[in-house]
Amino acid sequence: MKRLRLLEKSLKRIYLKLESAFNRRLGHEYIPLDLGAFNIETSSACNLKCRFCAYEKKETPRVSMANEMFAKTVEQALELGFNEFHLTPTTGDVFMDKHVFEKFAYLDAHPKVKAYHFFTNLTVLNPAQIEQLTRLKKLSRITVSIYGHDEVTFIDIAKSSSKVFQRLLANLRALLALKPQWPFAVSLGFRSTFDVPAEPVDDLMHLLREFRAAGVSIHASHGIYNNWGGYITQDDVAGLNIKILDGSKTPKLGPCVKLFDGFQVMATGVVNGCSCRDVDATLQIGHIDQAPLKNILSGHNPLYQQIITEQEAGKFRPACEGCDYYRSIYHQPKVFRKKNIPVQTRLQFFRRFNDK
Ligand code: SF4
Ligand code: SF4
Repeated sequence: MKRLRLLEKSLKRIYLKLESAFNRRLGHEYIPLDLGAFNIETSSACNLKCRFCAYEKKETPRVSMANEMFAKTVEQALELGFNEFHLTPTTGDVFMDKHVFEKFAYLDAHPKVKAYHFFTNLTVLNPAQIEQLTRLKKLSRITVSIYGHDEVTFIDIAKSSSKVFQRLLANLRALLALKPQWPFAVSLGFRSTFDVPAEPVDDLMHLLREFRAAGVSIHASHGIYNNWGGYITQDDVAGLNIKILDGSKTPKLGPCVKLFDGFQVMATGVVNGCSCRDVDATLQIGHIDQAPLKNILSGHNPLYQQIITEQEAGKFRPACEGCDYYRSIYHQPKVFRKKNIPVQTRLQFFRRFNDK
């Protein structure tokens, strides 16, 4: 099974390379017209230290965004036409921010905000706060990331403790018990080693089974992890049945679409070109305290243009070089074709913001 999944990945790479080259020649670009949610990192701190994650190795500060900066960012993003917000940190957990419920209240009360959502490891907050979540009006989706398939693997993968594992179980139970009053959608991301058993072996997997029985979708992906732009090597996961993939094998032709639909205002106020893998903000294109967002997300911003020009010429900075989240603007995903999803070129993208 391990070999089959690796072979499948190799064949996909060959196809992507050919398809992107063909579309580039024809001048076809596939940036989604609907850019989705605006990314704000409310906290860059985490309580776990997962061994496959760049969190422990990053050099950028572990801070929470001040409420004033958050409000300013939201206002400017609304002016640019966004009405939905994604609050998942590049690395960190939303609940490390002691004022995150004040930020939720701000979004809830804002007449122009439609919805907001985030990922969490669910090990920071307590059952009373989980109940508080169900009273939020515009929180539309929570994705819970679960690392490990039992207490031993959780502690091994997340470099955590039995106490934190028990908190995870208590919080999952509290969340499930509130299912009849969930005003939001919940899904679970379940990531462990290749050794995950087919049948539940302890409380965690039994609980996941209860979630599934209650109709909650669980996205399981075990064993294969990305190297976070070279930050993570096989040595970091020694002793765990995990394979770290070198993202530099992902074929890269043309600018990554994330530069257009995945930018993020980080907890420090830095506006970064991508929210996916660049923990040390090497793709920064401005700072929310130094220029309005409109001028940062602009075709006239030389920092932004430089990154795009570099990628067009095949020069990728280390975070991108080793990234397997990359998707070329010249690649048309199958779902775009099937669902006829409207797209735009980068010229149209920049015109849209400049018109505002
Ligand atoms: S994977 Fe998520 S929970 Fe784990 S250390 Fe990284 S940011 Fe924290
Ligand atoms: S290659 Fe990866 S890090 Fe770079 S912009 Fe794309 S998704 Fe972000």
